Amino acid sequence: MRVLNVEDSEDDAHLLCSELASAGIDLNYRRVDSFAGMQAALQESDWDVVISDHSMPSFSSLEALELLKQSGKDIPFIIFSGNIGEEVAVSAMHNGAHDYVYKGNFARLIPSIKRELKNAADRRAKKQAEAHVYQLAYYDELTGLPKRNLFCEKVGDVLSERADSRAAAAMYFIDMDRFMRINNTYGYATGDALIRQVAQRLKECVGETGVLARVGGDKFAVFRGGVANSREIQTFADHVMESFGAPFAIENLEFYVTLSVGICVYPDDGEDVSTLLVNAESAMYLAKKLWRNNYQYYVKALGEASSRRLALETSLRRAVERGELFLQYQPVVDLKTGKFTGAEALVRWNHPEFGLLGPDNFIPLADETGLIIEIGEWVLHQACMQAKSWHDMGLYPMTIAVNVSAVQLGQTQLLNQVADVLSKTGLDPACLELEITESVVMRDAEASIKMLGALKDMGIKISVDDFGTGYSSLSYLKQLPIDILKIDQSFTRDIGSDADSSSIVTAIVALAKSLNLSVLAEGVESIEQLGFLRKEKCDRVQGYYYSRPVNPDALLPLIMPMRAAEPA
Ligand code: C2E
Ligand code: CA
Ligand code: CA
Repeated sequence: MRVLNVEDSEDDAHLLCSELASAGIDLNYRRVDSFAGMQAALQESDWDVVISDHSMPSFSSLEALELLKQSGKDIPFIIFSGNIGEEVAVSAMHNGAHDYVYKGNFARLIPSIKRELKNAADRRAKKQAEAHVYQLAYYDELTGLPKRNLFCEKVGDVLSERADSRAAAAMYFIDMDRFMRINNTYGYATGDALIRQVAQRLKECVGETGVLARVGGDKFAVFRGGVANSREIQTFADHVMESFGAPFAIENLEFYVTLSVGICVYPDDGEDVSTLLVNAESAMYLAKKLWRNNYQYYVKALGEASSRRLALETSLRRAVERGELFLQYQPVVDLKTGKFTGAEALVRWNHPEFGLLGPDNFIPLADETGLIIEIGEWVLHQACMQAKSWHDMGLYPMTIAVNVSAVQLGQTQLLNQVADVLSKTGLDPACLELEITESVVMRDAEASIKMLGALKDMGIKISVDDFGTGYSSLSYLKQLPIDILKIDQSFTRDIGSDADSSSIVTAIVALAKSLNLSVLAEGVESIEQLGFLRKEKCDRVQGYYYSRPVNPDALLPLIMPMRAAEPA
């Protein structure tokens, strides 16, 4: 026990030491009896307890207590004196002394020390726990940066300080481009390491000139108060973009990270921190939509679009659990036999406020927000369950096509989802066709080859959707583990009226044959288009000519004849 004894009498000090020692206490002891001595002792070491005489020739317990308080240390302070009046003792206790023991009464002193040591330990533990909770609540564990809540508090403080002057300030919303891909390809440990480095680099950019926070997985916000003019707002954005020109090194890998940044300006684009954040974020989405790796300023019209977007996003989060999504099916016809052989599942949303919404109205949003993972899983499960029940009605081997978005394809969990759905529904994998848009497949052909290969290994078919619009490289096309080319409806639409489109269709069919792929034309609306496709020996078609996408019970009479043709 480290005991600091404030005592002028050496005899009393000796007595104290021997009493403490005989109570089995292992002592680390120092005696002081002056202001300077006490001050030095507090500065030089840590003490578990201060035991102080009351009045000494050149020092007193009250002065000692004052010194201890000034040091900011929480050390039990026990007055051990024979000549202090009750009144003084009480006032000393009010002032922060922890106990008062009559000098010589060791039977009371020792328990008092022990009790006060325990109290002090409890106080420390509580303080630590509080600090820890504060840290957890306000700081991001990975990067050590403030979280959104602390950011909002800090920025709120700055804004209220400046409310009168209304001097300009800028909010930047920063999002890493394609971060999910890094996570998916290299794993979360690498993703985390990258986030940490990105945070560090942003910290260097911001320095003392603003407030930086991590406001989401790969999203950061910066608020800068002292901006004199719009030039300065832009200079900072340029500076950030430039500083990301250098790669990040993680283990032996180099990563180039680009950013999409949205900017909005106080007070024009918002007067409070949450409006500023929302508007900067919507400007960020514009940057992302345009070409990534750039920054965009908030424009008002964007705000209106974004409040609808926000309303949609909020309701989309609940759409699956509320059962607002449903699937329609568009039949697919085999041109050789003229019979229906399958269907494509197309999702729709019965929105409680906006009415019936087609996928173009919400799938892009689902992609951006990651909600597509959940929605995609629901669609897949629903479609496979439906197909399996048709099979059970004797319609085997009718095919079911399900659309898979870019974001889904980028997630390795897609493999688990598909395996899971197949085992839960018992659908024959050979009857499942996953449709992936050509541009998505080609955007990262190397990664696609791996992912599609893994899917194909499960026995399912891969279809390249909207083929002809995505600039496929022929060399990749040969390597890709795919089964079906789906000619985009824009080419089908112009058959007959546009010589180019007709020759593109002819070329795609020939290409498919040469690669040993099945070819399907979508968007067939007229008998002329059908005739042309038949002549070109296109394998399958779908389109309004046969049927629009319909509810399952409306599809049944169309596909039922399959049963006679192909008894299961
Ligand atoms: P897509 O895969 O190219 O789907 C074909 C779209 O063309 C469907 O629009 C369909 O209703 C429409 N269509 C079919 N036949 C004809 C025709 O003869 N003429 C015309 N003019 N249009 C025809 P829809 O249902 O609005 O779907 C739009 C897109 O949304 C789909 O394009 C697909 O990319 C996406 N999508 C639909 N369902 C899902 C889904 O469950 N998941 C994902 N990720 N995307 C989906
Ligand atoms: Ca499709
Ligand atoms: Ca398509």
